[in-house]
Amino acid sequence: MKKPAAAKAPKTPAVPVEGQCRCGAVRLEIGFPARWAWHDHSAASRHAHGAAYATYVGSWRSRFRVTEGEDLITRFVDDAAGTARSFCARCGTPLCFERAHSPTMVNVPRALFEGRTGREPRYHIAIHESPEWAYWGEAVGPLKGFPGVVWERPRKNKRRDDSGLF
Ligand SMILES: [Zn+2]
Repeated sequence: MKKPAAAKAPKTPAVPVEGQCRCGAVRLEIGFPARWAWHDHSAASRHAHGAAYATYVGSWRSRFRVTEGEDLITRFVDDAAGTARSFCARCGTPLCFERAHSPTMVNVPRALFEGRTGREPRYHIAIHESPEWAYWGEAVGPLKGFPGVVWERPRKNKRRDDSGLF
């Protein structure tokens, strides 16, 4: 019997690609290629990751599995937002981002995978929520006296408001 179109899942098994948290206690895998990939600029994901934005790869739930460390996974459910975020309880690495309106998908931070996931992150969500301090590829040059540090030279027409404290 065929599945309904709304729940179209892949028919062929995918080759798994493995990702892991920072400490390595939690390992997970998704099928290659991932369903899609995107940059999430929302305030909620920014806060949850402690970073300017989060980059995710979306996997069919049927192609996602935790292979090690299941007992170390802590889950934060935000009923109001309809989301659930999972973390490694040992090292704090964000592991999964699930959304109630998309129950067939599991979203995993792209950074957890060293290798290719089969999708380039060409999409942006909530870009209007991007903070003024996010880096957008502005030109940088070496900072004298600090090897390995580069900086953005001040410009005449700055996008940013320097009145704040970053
Ligand atoms: Zn960990």
